[in-house]
Amino acid sequence: MIEADLIVIGAGPGGYATAARVAADGGKVIVVERDYLGGTCLNRGCIPTKALCRSAEVAATVAEAEAFGIEVEGFSFNYPKAVERKNEVVASLREGVATVLSKAEIVKGDAVFTGPHTIKVGDEEYCAPKIIIATGSRPASLPVPGAEYAVNSDFILDMTALPSSLIIVGGGVIGMEFASIFNAFGVKVTVLEYCPEILPPFDEEIAKRLRMSLKKRGIEIVTSAQVTSISSGLTVECAVKGKPKAFSADMVLIAVGRTPVVPQGAAEAGIELTPRGAIKVDGNMETTVPGVYAIGDVNGICMLAHAAEAQGKVALGEKQRLDIIPSAVFTMPECAMVGLTEKQCAERGLAFKIGKATFRANGKALAMGEPDGLVKVITSDNGKLLGCHICGAHAADLVQEAATLMTADMPASALCDAVHSHPTLGETVAAAVAASL
Ligand code: FAD
Ligand code: NAD
Repeated sequence: MIEADLIVIGAGPGGYATAARVAADGGKVIVVERDYLGGTCLNRGCIPTKALCRSAEVAATVAEAEAFGIEVEGFSFNYPKAVERKNEVVASLREGVATVLSKAEIVKGDAVFTGPHTIKVGDEEYCAPKIIIATGSRPASLPVPGAEYAVNSDFILDMTALPSSLIIVGGGVIGMEFASIFNAFGVKVTVLEYCPEILPPFDEEIAKRLRMSLKKRGIEIVTSAQVTSISSGLTVECAVKGKPKAFSADMVLIAVGRTPVVPQGAAEAGIELTPRGAIKVDGNMETTVPGVYAIGDVNGICMLAHAAEAQGKVALGEKQRLDIIPSAVFTMPECAMVGLTEKQCAERGLAFKIGKATFRANGKALAMGEPDGLVKVITSDNGKLLGCHICGAHAADLVQEAATLMTADMPASALCDAVHSHPTLGETVAAAVAASL
């Protein structure tokens, strides 16, 4: 039996960042990983998609170059080259994770619980007073006949040739990012979303704005669509607002959420699950077994890389505002949000004011050729920011200003008091806040 101060199962953004923190302080840390370092985020998620997003942006920029006074004589898109670049970005960051973990011991293999504080990897047993489960999630399947003919996000990030047409089942974050990417690569994309609007957790006005922008780019988006079957010939049957409809394409991607990956033996060790199959945790990320914690996608609270890392800090006893987690969708244009939506404020009976600013009135946005954008902020009757919602270029970076203000619990007016450089997109955030006061 090998003993350690801390065992971390899974080297995704939750696991590796948390393990590195404890190892840097001199603790004996064992990290068990059965696949590549970096987890879903680095190998099958955030980073490979963002590398492809960048190729998509460059393709769109070259296609629109003439409007900027640049004449490009005939250009073509080399998908295998874009994939090669994506793989290089991933490989280089994997080396970075290995460096971050240099003070921890990495054990390659599948961790199986053999008791509340013991695990087995191969023939070796390990124990520690503290174990952090950070085993992440995998793509959820769709319980309809023929779902096996469709592919998932893992497959699509590894493929080396483009289909000429693609149906995406699910207009959530993964669905919309891939729709935006493959549309820019010249693929005919159709999105079938079950809810009346895409991106259900986002503010409806912002989601609608994104839907309209993506439609203008040629993406077909069908909402209120309940998929009933997929045929081997890749025809997707669905009920759209109750009426039967069929769509066909060369490839079907299912992106309807992700399922937590729970290590074997966890239930026998006393680690309870939620009805949705995630590991049950309290506010300190502790499971039903004292000393055993679960962070990141596996606890199903918030399936984002930065949430996994923040929860890891909480598991180590650090304070984090887990109620203020910004999130972004890296489409063209981007969408981002932090805090409550207008609908959530109304449902909670809160007194609130809305302030908006458009990119069309912003010098930098027009100079960039990005007039299509909106910042919407919601402030409380005591002048605090309740939420910030953005659709437009660099929304993911812009929303951070509001997230910082909310985390510091400062009055919304402080954001306007901070002098903003001109011309910047950040001026739109200040203008929206000023309009809400
Ligand atoms: P993971 O990253 O899933 O890591 C878990 C690790 O545990 C894996 O490496 C796995 O091999 C290992 N493991 C599992 N079981 C065992 C076991 N029994 N023994 C040993 N090892 C085990 N989030 C963002 O914030 N921004 C984005 O832009 C973004 N884009 C995404 C794009 C896509 C296509 C996808 C699929 C996800 C995206 N996400 C994004 C979500 C993000 O990837 C996850 O929220 C994040 O990776 C969760 O981190 P984690 O540490 O909880 O788990
Ligand atoms: P999601 O929950 O974001 O979206 C799933 C979508 O599928 C929803 O809109 C849902 O209404 C729809 N849906 C469900 N069943 C359906 C059906 N039968 N027919 C049609 N539509 C159906 O899940 P996802 O897009 O798979 O992403 C999984 C997780 O990964 C998310 O929780 C997200 O946090 C994370 N992620 C984050 C980023 C990012 O931060 N940029 C990017 C990708 C993924």
